Amino acid sequence: MIIGLLLALQLGTPPIYDRVILGGHVMDPASTLDAVRNIGLSGGRIAVITTHAIRGRDTIDARGGGLVVAPGFIDLHAHGQTAETYRFYALDGVTTALELELGTSDVAAWYRERSAGERINYGVSIGHIKVRMAVMHDSGTRMPVGDGAYRAASPAQIGEIANRIEIGLREGAVSIGAGFPYTPAATRDELLALFRVAAKTKTPIHVHIRPGVAGLKEALALADETHAPLHVVHINSAGLAETPAMLELISDARAHGRDVTTEAYPYDAGMTEMQSATIQDVYKNAPDERLAELEWPVTGERLNRESFERYSRIGGPVVVHTNTEQMVAVALTSPLTIIASDAYWQNGTGHPRTTGTFARVLGRYVREGLRSPSPNGRGGQGVRLSLMDAIRKMTLMPAQRLEARVPAMRQKGRLRVGADADITIFDPASVLDRSTYRERSRPPVGIQHVIVNGVSVVANGQAVEGVAPGKAVRAVQAP
Ligand SMILES: [Zn+2]
Repeated sequence: MIIGLLLALQLGTPPIYDRVILGGHVMDPASTLDAVRNIGLSGGRIAVITTHAIRGRDTIDARGGGLVVAPGFIDLHAHGQTAETYRFYALDGVTTALELELGTSDVAAWYRERSAGERINYGVSIGHIKVRMAVMHDSGTRMPVGDGAYRAASPAQIGEIANRIEIGLREGAVSIGAGFPYTPAATRDELLALFRVAAKTKTPIHVHIRPGVAGLKEALALADETHAPLHVVHINSAGLAETPAMLELISDARAHGRDVTTEAYPYDAGMTEMQSATIQDVYKNAPDERLAELEWPVTGERLNRESFERYSRIGGPVVVHTNTEQMVAVALTSPLTIIASDAYWQNGTGHPRTTGTFARVLGRYVREGLRSPSPNGRGGQGVRLSLMDAIRKMTLMPAQRLEARVPAMRQKGRLRVGADADITIFDPASVLDRSTYRERSRPPVGIQHVIVNGVSVVANGQAVEGVAPGKAVRAVQAP
């Protein structure tokens, strides 16, 4: 195909591209291109970006409607990794969805299960939580509920955990995942063992830290001591009211040359597994007014002692109302944060962030600009992101976080000749999420076209059925 194109160029005959996107408002944070262009795609890559007229076998007309053509969105924190959730993500503009926090304990098997291709690109971490569940023989399915959470590992078991993490990395895991509140019995020695593997292999470790400034300081100290690259997941829910102080700590660490990054999602309630240590440890002796922070998503009811006990026996996802819109806005508008959904979906239900994260940022934070009181109480300051900054947080920044370990990410998150043809085309005037805590599976509006490796997976706002152009995002395997 490329040879054919070169020949056509030499002969002076205009090439016919696989697909062309005509007259869109092209926005590329890496080059800062912000202008109307035509884009030609061939062989799954971007072949040309030009002001000249071009032709293709297939045409997406982005003229007139003011459509923005951006690199496909990259989600570093997507728990759902099924056909159902890949479809949700595509409708939200996501072309690469990675499960890097919880991860898996068997990297080779995880990629093998998806090797026939998926709707969008996919990838996984080797997860400390999952590995610990295997080594400690925990009976939980998704999260540890027994020894995986509550029993200290012996030195031999710590050695086995570290060994399995190294195996996962050799099998091409994108990163190392960890969640300290889910494994409360893991000692500092055990966590240090993880961080040493991360440092030795120059692999970012994506950590769900313990709450607040103290939790962040713990993770920063582990990274400091070992020189491991650290990525702090969902700073909004880890930080709550302490989010501003924590962003400052990360900013400081970066100014001192530390490789620390972070991410946020645009919702003021979280969600996790009812039976996990994060819920049970905090709420098992809590008074009713505290239990009312919890919402059972199936019915929308707030919990009390009786319903807490009942649903704890059943298990399943629970909504946690502990943050404020103001803190979410602080997290999202910080130049430090990558947008990542923490998409959570299980047995047909989950958090609306699964279906609406990216459209919500573009609609509510870029176009509308949330008006929220300032932290010092003077109030009235609008919180708005520029469109280019929002796109950077969804594309270039997540690609850059991973590219030292996964060189293939250098071909993603950018619109330039030779880059992967992962492209999201949306209407900035109408883009908006529609999912709510009660109705969680409604697709957004305004995400018009989504292209993965040159193939349309969303066309005219509708999912294209029967396509699986998504490929594995995987680290180069060590020799
Ligand atoms: Zn988490």
